[in-house]
Amino acid sequence: MDIPRIFNITESAHRIHNPFTPEKLATLGAVLRLEPGTRVLDLGSGSGEMLCTWARDYGITGVGIDMSQLFTEQAKRRAEELGVADRVGFIHGDAAGYVADEKCGVAACIGATWIGGGVAGTIGLLRKSLRANGIILIGEPYWRQLPPTEEVAKECLADSISDFLMLPELLASFDELGYDVVEMVLADQEGWDRYEAAKWFTMRRWLEANPEDDFAKEIRAQLTTAPKRHAVYTREYLGWGVFALMAR
Ligand code: SAH
Repeated sequence: MDIPRIFNITESAHRIHNPFTPEKLATLGAVLRLEPGTRVLDLGSGSGEMLCTWARDYGITGVGIDMSQLFTEQAKRRAEELGVADRVGFIHGDAAGYVADEKCGVAACIGATWIGGGVAGTIGLLRKSLRANGIILIGEPYWRQLPPTEEVAKECLADSISDFLMLPELLASFDELGYDVVEMVLADQEGWDRYEAAKWFTMRRWLEANPEDDFAKEIRAQLTTAPKRHAVYTREYLGWGVFALMAR
């Protein structure tokens, strides 16, 4: 079981697989006013940076589930490196339908809401693991500017304009599901650069190391086009944020 190989190649050197910088991730942890010992569930935990740094900085405990074998191994190594392996654990597996044995104070899905079939489905899934008055965290893109055409949306890592909402509509959608938005931390263009541009260097290094690989043509094509595409499309049209929700 694994995710498509392209991500395991292009994001192999990322610690954070979304447009948050380490500073934004720390801000999110701080604004949530986490009590030491708070249990955090993270579906699609990637390389574990959120759980590991929050365990170090805020004393949380938790578990992350991710379908990438590589990212899960990196998460376990990161926990060892930060000295928090006794507090956070990482499971390699499909998080679809995953419900924690023990109720959590925070249940998160950061940049992987397809796991629950979209934002509403993922909130429903996370809620099953949440204790009363717990916090759900959803990391999700939104349109900074509405793409003028479907072609433009496709250049922005989306399948169609309808994949994402504008920020006010996204916030309204949480309200309609019966949740208070109690906090939010938004990424900025610098964060998008960190997420996207880091892939370019990784792709270049990968091509040098794997010139004969079946995937080399695909990676070469992506590396050639990605910087311009990022500057014209993703960087201008796409926003991203983490929203902290509490059921009313
Ligand atoms: N939350 C992490 C990773 C976001 S990227 C971070 O912010 O750094 C999306 C992640 O979802 C990837 O790590 C990918 O491996 C994982 N993923 C995709 N489908 C999944 C599934 N069905 N179950 C668990 N993880 C999944």
